[in-house]
Amino acid sequence: RKLPLDPSEEPGVRQVKGACFSRVRPQPLTRPRFVAVSHEALALLGLDGEEVMNDPLGPEYLSGSRVMPGSEPAAHCYCGHQFGQFAGQLGDGAACYLGEVKVPPGQDPELMRENPSGRWEIQVKGAGLTPYSRQADGRKVLRSSIREFLCSEVMFFLGVPTTRAGSIVTSDSRVVRDVYYSGHPRHERCSVVLRIAPTFLRFGSFEIFKQPDEYTGRRGPSSGHDEIRGQMMDYVIETFYPEIQQCYPDRLERNVAFFREVMIRTARLVAQWQCVGFCHGVLNTDNMSILGLTMDYGPYGFMDRFDPDFICNASDNSGRYSYQAQPAICRWNLVKLAEALVPELPLDRANTVMDEYLDLFNGFYRENMRKKLGLLKKDEPEDELLITELLQTMHNTGADFTNTFRCLSQISCPNEGESEVDGDHVPKATDLLLEHCATLEELKAAKQPTMDPRELAMLLSMAQSNQALFQMISDRATVARQLDRLRQLKDLMEISQEELRTKQAKEWSCWITSYMKRLARELEGQSDVQAVQEERLRVMDSTNPRVVLRNYIAQNAIEAAENGDFSEVQRVLKVLEKPFSPQPGLEFPAWVGGGEAAKQGERD
Ligand code: AMP
Ligand code: MG
Ligand code: MG
Repeated sequence: RKLPLDPSEEPGVRQVKGACFSRVRPQPLTRPRFVAVSHEALALLGLDGEEVMNDPLGPEYLSGSRVMPGSEPAAHCYCGHQFGQFAGQLGDGAACYLGEVKVPPGQDPELMRENPSGRWEIQVKGAGLTPYSRQADGRKVLRSSIREFLCSEVMFFLGVPTTRAGSIVTSDSRVVRDVYYSGHPRHERCSVVLRIAPTFLRFGSFEIFKQPDEYTGRRGPSSGHDEIRGQMMDYVIETFYPEIQQCYPDRLERNVAFFREVMIRTARLVAQWQCVGFCHGVLNTDNMSILGLTMDYGPYGFMDRFDPDFICNASDNSGRYSYQAQPAICRWNLVKLAEALVPELPLDRANTVMDEYLDLFNGFYRENMRKKLGLLKKDEPEDELLITELLQTMHNTGADFTNTFRCLSQISCPNEGESEVDGDHVPKATDLLLEHCATLEELKAAKQPTMDPRELAMLLSMAQSNQALFQMISDRATVARQLDRLRQLKDLMEISQEELRTKQAKEWSCWITSYMKRLARELEGQSDVQAVQEERLRVMDSTNPRVVLRNYIAQNAIEAAENGDFSEVQRVLKVLEKPFSPQPGLEFPAWVGGGEAAKQGERD
């Protein structure tokens, strides 16, 4: 419905008052057609991918161009904190809920445990205007849709909790996008992803009840918010956390247990991200699932060379959502959720729960990392140091995150009787790992400051001459990072490729020596050494993927699809459905490094 806009509001931004959702109609696409489907995801809905692909109406229905009988499409109204600030009303601006599909009989009991609701929410993303579209058009283009489609599925096959993607449809409908890297507007094809999850409710769903008067003017307590907040909590807990509903007859204790479970799932999720080198990029509270799923794939990135400061979102100037910031940011987001649950959950109770967060995260992270290193028999306190030193070595040598971990299972564990540093174990392993380190040119490219050199020079001289003025810069951490890069770059200017290799070899053989000593301790007191070694290999090779969705892999698929060839999208999905197994004939060319290519697909 076209409603007159309130002149006091930002242009295009409409406040939808007193509602958690608005009924909408997805906008039909011109000549919708499939780019790809995920057979596994469609099977969740009881659909056969092949049949759907061959059905002329398949792309119509799965893009929302036709609405299924009985479906009552809706856009959800939510709020959220974006980049640390309360952003007021946001809502589904491009996504549209189509309804729910009952879980077909005979589904994997494991999946049932993950989705006790017995049904799947389905959404079309990119289906056009909603009351929450603000100045945008509610559309998504091929680039961003391919990124969302592929990564949703890839994360699932990596074993990371995520919303799913059933299909991607493109069309002859076009929208203009001012693509920042090309500098001129492009007419791009409207594309739609079918998303699937037990629910798309998020932290931000509860934030619409927050401090209503201050933020939206009219969402006062008198408007029945306390009642609706309670209803939303009841719905979420009864439907998605039925065990908690059953175990806690006392409402307050139930709510505490619910919040604690959301915290546990979030801590586990972010630990998994860290362990596959995944950076979400936009960890605003409206992108935090109430079920602890990865959701909203925009400028995400899997790291190539390990860098704790990795930032995958081009508009994240301060690095708020950098790789290493993720665990703390998730904590911050949980605190915002807790604030939004008052008075259902008193803040002091929430704070007590939050005191557990750091230990929980560290526990999940350690458990996962110990599997990645194949340390299964003993849990030694020094393992933490071994892990940090591995990451430090990777960072210093510009080592590839995914390949380095995958390589660790090839390091032979010294047998009993053999001294851990006997023979040529260490030099052999060092050679293996050096293959995944950066060359001098690559390291230099990686250390280029990302800030404008003139701006940096100005800040540098300010830092030297006027400390007081420098202290006034609000984002000194960014400047410090840039200066640090510059310092490292200067060191690199003074050495040769051979000197770099020698340095890298020294660092790696040092770490490998401690790793082998540790592996030897794994075998102490074990009667069946062979079995221990085999189990180590099995666990490592099913924890460290051979392949992840590197940016260049997604980018190649996007470029081919933009030229009308969808086979690369389908091939990427096929390879990444088995990220732990070799797939002869389907492999990608080895990653050869060479700096971070522009993530051209990241913008909507
Ligand atoms: P995000 O950063 O992707 O979480 O999006 C922030 C807000 O912008 C959400 O409310 C989205 O629904 C909205 N949004 C994102 N992309 C579009 C689009 N193409 N059209 C309309 N709204 C959008
Ligand atoms: Mg979002
Ligand atoms: Mg988004």
